[in-house]
This record gives sequence, C-alpha cells and structure tokens, in this order.
Amino acid sequence: MSLSVLITIDTELWCDGWKNLDAHFLDALKKYIYGKTPSGEYGLPFLLRVLNDNGLKATFFVEPLFALRFGLDPLAEIVGIILDAGQSVELHLHTEWVDEAKSPLFPGVIEKRQHISCFSYEEQVVLLHKSADLLGLAGAPRLHAFRAGNFGANFDTLRALSTLDICIDSSYNTNQPACEINLSPPIHQAKMVNDILEVPMTVFSDGIRRQRPMQITACSLDELITILNYALRARWRHLVLLTHSAEMLNESKTRKSSIVVRRFVRFCEYLSHNSGRFPTIDFRYPSLQPVEGEFFQLRCGVLPTLIRLVEQARVRLS
Ligand SMILES: [Zn+2]
Repeated sequence: MSLSVLITIDTELWCDGWKNLDAHFLDALKKYIYGKTPSGEYGLPFLLRVLNDNGLKATFFVEPLFALRFGLDPLAEIVGIILDAGQSVELHLHTEWVDEAKSPLFPGVIEKRQHISCFSYEEQVVLLHKSADLLGLAGAPRLHAFRAGNFGANFDTLRALSTLDICIDSSYNTNQPACEINLSPPIHQAKMVNDILEVPMTVFSDGIRRQRPMQITACSLDELITILNYALRARWRHLVLLTHSAEMLNESKTRKSSIVVRRFVRFCEYLSHNSGRFPTIDFRYPSLQPVEGEFFQLRCGVLPTLIRLVEQARVRLS
C-alpha cells in the first residue's frame, strides 16, 4: 500500500509594493527566487538541491506574467534552473501583474484584480493562453497542470483551461476563501470536474480543530508526518504539499528561517527514507487519475499541533 506525494512549489516574485517596480526588480529576483540572505541562498537552487539529494520529484508552479513587465530573460532563467535540475514546470498565475504590463493586456484594466476569478471567461482564456505562451517561450515543455494565484479560481477557469489542453487543476483549496470552485460535498482526492482533473490542495483539521493547509510554514514536522500516515491508513491515493520559492526565508525575507529550513529538510529525508510507502510524483505521472470512493477530511492529534504552536512562538520571538 502506498500514498503518492505531490510536492508543489509556487515559484513567484514580488517587489514588496507596486511603486518603482523597475528599481526593485533585481532585488526581488534575488530574494524571491534565489532566496539570498546574509547566511546564504535558500531559494530555488537550495530547494532543488534538497529535493534531488533525497531523490524526490516535485512540481514547480511558475508564475510567468511578471515577464510582461520585466522581459523573458529572468523567466527563462527560472525555468532553466528547474529543468536543469530535472524537475517539472507547470503554470501558476498571479493576475496582480496584469495592470503592470509594459504593453497592456486589457487596456481597460488599470486597477489591481487579485484573482483570476475577477476576470470574465473570455478574459481568462486570454490570460491563460498568454501566460502559457510566456512559459513556452521561456523554455518550458508541454504544460499539464495549473494553479491559480491565491487559489482564486472559479468554474470559468476550469472551462478556460480546457481551451489550452491543460487537463489538471490544483486550485481547489477548502481553506482559501478566494477559491470559488465550490463543490458539494467537498473533495479530498482527485476528481473530474467537467473536463478537468481537479487535484485538491490537502487541508486537514489540526489538534485544536482548525483548518490547516499541508504547507511547510503552516505545519510542524510532526503534523506533516502524522497526516501522511493517517492518509495512508485511510487509503488515500495521493496528497498535495505546498511551499513557495521564498518560503525558507522569514516573513520580511531578510534572513533564513532556521526552523522552516530544518522542517523542509527533515520532511524530505523522511520521504526519502520511506519512499516505498510515500513515493513522490509530479503532474506528468500517468497514474494521477480520478480516485473513486468516499474520503473524509483528516484530523491530526493534539501533540503535533502543540509542537507547532511552540515552534511558531519561537519564530515570532527570534
Ligand atoms: Zn502564488
């Protein structure tokens, strides 16, 4: 019996505000992609090294719309780093960049629209085709999967994806109010929604009955490992883990977060040592199929959550 793990890394950069973007761009690239800190780099190259040292597969959901402002070269640089490491690139999209493009995509849009669901179906088709084209021009091979920025997708997004030949979506997240793909009952395993295979972000109920996404900064190592094992026992077929290209850094992105780095490294080591029970797959893997059966949200015990609360307090105090 095994449970496949989909490690997903949302790869994106931000200029920490929307003023003087061009002056802040190089700094943004260093921080959000390379994870540059006074004690070394903890971004993309670090994540790729840890994944590969442990023989793990991962999917990098790369945000390409920033290239409409800053050009293709930095996007090609990002795609190249990931592909050279043998990992896969899929499509992520933050529509906050739309009104910052050098040549406007939609001349009428001059304000921030935070989610793809803020756009009409026809506009979403344009956005998705444009961003997929950008990734292709930057060297990405055929795309298979999509994740909306902030998980802010709706049913129009799924329809629009069908026009691109992207047949997998990973924007469904019951812990994100921005996600407007409302399914009743909620899903926990891959399921066909219209023509698209929806692969939900794994969300569990923690030891104090709060909803937690399976995200490196949101969970203790014990919570991550407990949920993995619960999912295996509950006969889940797969589970989705989230992190970001700059998630190993502290909130203000000025230094590394030692606790988060240690957690990520140990989690990868755990998967590596238990690869028979917990193989890692990407969205190209042919066995990523709809899962039949009834599944319920997983619940974690109290102790792993208490450990996380102590760790979070230490992060805030450090
Ligand atoms: Zn994102």
